[in-house]
Amino acid sequence: MQDSRDQPGIDLELKSVTKRFGTFVAVRSLSLSVARGEFVCLLGPSGCGKTTTLRMIAGLEDPDEGEIRIGGGRVNDTPPWERDVSMMFQDFALFPHMTVGKQVGFGLEMMKHPKDQIRRRVEETLATFEIGELAARKPDTLSGGQKQRVALARALITQPRLLLLDEPIGSLDYSLREAVMLELKDVQRRLGISFVCVTHDQNEAFSLGDKVVVMNQAEIEQMGAPETIVERPRTRFVAQFIQGNNLFDGAVDSVAEGGVRVRTAVGDFLVPLRDTAPPPPGASVSFSMRAELLTERLGPEHPNRLPATCHAVEYLGALRRYDLRISNGRSVKIERFGASAPRLAPGEQVTLGWRVEDGVLHAPAGIRA
Ligand code: ATP
Repeated sequence: MQDSRDQPGIDLELKSVTKRFGTFVAVRSLSLSVARGEFVCLLGPSGCGKTTTLRMIAGLEDPDEGEIRIGGGRVNDTPPWERDVSMMFQDFALFPHMTVGKQVGFGLEMMKHPKDQIRRRVEETLATFEIGELAARKPDTLSGGQKQRVALARALITQPRLLLLDEPIGSLDYSLREAVMLELKDVQRRLGISFVCVTHDQNEAFSLGDKVVVMNQAEIEQMGAPETIVERPRTRFVAQFIQGNNLFDGAVDSVAEGGVRVRTAVGDFLVPLRDTAPPPPGASVSFSMRAELLTERLGPEHPNRLPATCHAVEYLGALRRYDLRISNGRSVKIERFGASAPRLAPGEQVTLGWRVEDGVLHAPAGIRA
């Protein structure tokens, strides 16, 4: 029989999966697939159902409805240890009294592999994660980054099809995060194992994920490549949740060539339709544009214009963020790298503009991904 691991394709499929706790719906009819070797990040606010989804994949919660398939086979009734998945928890859940070498080999011991084979595999795995010199140490003597490597080595020694990670960076010092993220991504690429990672940190999701799944109130709002989520938020929720979007609410005034004219409290703006059907005149709509695409250097390519007053300037390393106020008192943000940053000081009045194609019209509320 051919090992299904040798077949290219899908490692994980969730089909209309629902989980209730009593009458509360924690995950509603969620469908998602993870291709072989893909790094998928579940991103969303606290309580949206990310961890419950991960726990159902691991077999730690049973779905009330729907199907979970791993490696092409239905696993709804398969216990966690037979699912071909490993899970890495936020606090790493290392065994405090076990040496690094012992805990990295623990999974193979549970699977009753021969002792000499375990010794060899532990050595190889410790070498892969460059923690060979830590083999005799106990967890309380390790740094955060070292603990994470040990937890990864322990999770991956059994060569699972899927690694599930619950907030893998969350407990680390800020200064360690970037290095650890790069390392996680590197390990995933080298081993070609599919990773499903839960996070509420969008920078983490965008740096790690090949695919980012944005969840809200038990459902998927949008899934796609990081660039798609950032540049084309599908709904008002996603635009608001993802940093760097300026959000406007209004009503459709008319359908013009190439877009809709939207009437808002601060002016009328032309927003492209792209592949969505034109909403009827009078319909409530929202749209957004990225803070880095707003400009004060206006030209004929910027028909959408908005008077604003600079309220504050934030220096974020190489990036500058300008917080401006518009006529209804709401805030609009511009972001720019130092070299191209506008010379705007608090109190200064300016007219901002953006190109029609930089606006993103959102799907009406209630229409899900
Ligand atoms: P966070 O980022 O805060 O961890 P999350 O998106 O991972 O949030 P979940 O942990 O999946 O959210 O929880 C989703 C909802 O289900 C929450 O309202 C939570 O209180 C509820 N919930 C989770 N587990 C249980 C349980 N065992 N019993 C009752 N309610 C639960």
